[in-house]
Amino acid sequence: MRHGFDVILLVLFGLLFAVPVYGEGKNDSGMKNERADTLETITMQVIIMGPPGAGKGTQAKKISEKYRIPHISTGDILRAEVEKGSELGGKVKDIMERGELVADEIVLGLVEKRVVEPDCGRGFILDGFPRTIPQAEGLDKILEKHGTAGIWVIDLVVPEEELLRRLLARKRPDDTESTIRNRIRVYHEKTAPLIHYYEKKKALFSINGDQPIGKVYLEIDSVLTNIR
Ligand code: AMP
Repeated sequence: MRHGFDVILLVLFGLLFAVPVYGEGKNDSGMKNERADTLETITMQVIIMGPPGAGKGTQAKKISEKYRIPHISTGDILRAEVEKGSELGGKVKDIMERGELVADEIVLGLVEKRVVEPDCGRGFILDGFPRTIPQAEGLDKILEKHGTAGIWVIDLVVPEEELLRRLLARKRPDDTESTIRNRIRVYHEKTAPLIHYYEKKKALFSINGDQPIGKVYLEIDSVLTNIR
């Protein structure tokens, strides 16, 4: 009996010292990045950026699986609304078919609703969002409001001819040649300025996306391993 009590005390004492030692990283957005040692306890808020066809969806899925954080694709959320035939779906269908951008307020509303869900407690990977400076500013506000661990941005860099080749091989309804060209134009005009936005915050990591999927993934994973 007495021996049993000693063992309990010893275990409790051990637990006290087994609590992971937290380090603290910080990027220039002034947001903290708490570090811990296991995939279960880390918080990882990541954006995957790059032009259409850069491989964002493919890589986001792999990162989501490894780090067990939800893959949030605004394109997927919007396509699901169109499929359902919801009021929102009706509003965005033509815009998406033309390869234009859905209004910032609509997308920001969807993202704010999504990132506060319980499965985002340990972070998330955002794919296809933010796509404009106002969306990035809106995201900063959302994260400040709900608490953040610091956002990190992976930018996939792929030459234009390769993007066209990949997109034309895909079979999505908005992958016709004229829509593709429009999406690339919109990317340069509205989304590419985000590279500078996140560079200034020292949150950006550029990765060569013109390599085999596994190689791109290894490079992304090594960045994510080093920042946490
Ligand atoms: P994606 O699957 O990311 O290529 O998105 C498909 C389409 O959904 C885009 O061409 C836009 O029309 C719309 N969309 C997705 N994400 C956003 C966003 N963050 N802002 C505005 N429109 C978006």
